[in-house]
Amino acid sequence: MPNDIAGFGLDYKVRLEFGPGRVAALGELAAGIAAPGRPLLLISDRGVAGTGLVDEVAAALRASGHAVTTVAELAGEPHDVDVDRHAALVRSERPGLVVALGGGSALDLAKLAASVGNGRAGAAAYALGARPLPSSVPVVAVPTTAGTGAEITRTAVFSAGGRKLWAWGPELRPALAVLDPELTVGLPKPLTVACGLDALVHGIEAATGQRRTPLSEAYGLRAVGLGFEHLPVLAHRPKDLAARGGMLLAACLAGLAIDLAGTGLAHAVGHALGTVRGVAHGPAVALGLTACLGWNVAGAPDRYRELARALGLAEAADASSYDLARALERRWRGLVGSAGAGLVQVAHTLDPDRDRRALGAALRAPENQPMVQANARPVDETDLDGLLDRLFDLRAGLP
Ligand SMILES: [Zn+2]
Repeated sequence: MPNDIAGFGLDYKVRLEFGPGRVAALGELAAGIAAPGRPLLLISDRGVAGTGLVDEVAAALRASGHAVTTVAELAGEPHDVDVDRHAALVRSERPGLVVALGGGSALDLAKLAASVGNGRAGAAAYALGARPLPSSVPVVAVPTTAGTGAEITRTAVFSAGGRKLWAWGPELRPALAVLDPELTVGLPKPLTVACGLDALVHGIEAATGQRRTPLSEAYGLRAVGLGFEHLPVLAHRPKDLAARGGMLLAACLAGLAIDLAGTGLAHAVGHALGTVRGVAHGPAVALGLTACLGWNVAGAPDRYRELARALGLAEAADASSYDLARALERRWRGLVGSAGAGLVQVAHTLDPDRDRRALGAALRAPENQPMVQANARPVDETDLDGLLDRLFDLRAGLP
């Protein structure tokens, strides 16, 4: 056992169903959770509705004999007003079950609405753990992307007052996650890559951070191994069902890992980029990791040793932790380069003169402190300025 890991525990129930075509069983699964006679509320977003999948899932749910109300209005990432509008629907419909269908944004929205709708306050009142969340209507989460792991975590991210915030509590964990790789096959390549990189960042940060445990390490290492294996395949063959299944598992395992150990500096940077420049979560955290991985590795190489081994980088015989960690860093840069993540273009939207102060303030804001403090390498004030320099340097290309 690494000598920097103290005691740890595990006390929760996770229920999931995995497999191609599993979504067809949703009616049966819903009937096993919702009380007889209570309606079901299906929450999704406009993008998913446009593919016809919302209608398909609603039909599968109606086979349970329950009435189904559908709402698929969300566009982009959720704000507190979106949550409050959906929570009002939970109050008026009194559903026996909320079915969350979509990417991380739709899942977070549904998770929050199912809990907030059981109380009187608006979503913003629960931000950053300001007060305990109300008990939740049971949620069945059906992800259509492989990225955030929201189908399994106790966290939900939303914006309020121009800041990217989060809520946390056991109330937010879905009662059941249904992972059907067929639902992710039609996802466009840029979104596939962006979501997949987010999952990889989760695995890397949860396996190496200050709050890691042997369990977060186990989930994180396996998630990273699956991600490095399957994401490059999807970058060239987006309809490969086996690779889609591999990434869906990677995202779920990485979700379990961050649920135990949190994330790190790449996520603090990602949330700051979301707050200041509206950069979407996947590219934002991938850019964040690209800016901070070399610095992390240089200061805490031992923490990356197992990760490098899990990727088969240990063949360099008696390589030192530092060599292994550097090999891991090269592997990451190779992946973001070859997968066509477009990170340099994202970096180009940044302007040091305009954005440095706001990004610095966002990195130091209370909502980002848990991520900064959980980072693999301890971070102090001056480190954040150096980090911003490296972030702006990425405009010139990946190192
Ligand atoms: Zn993330």
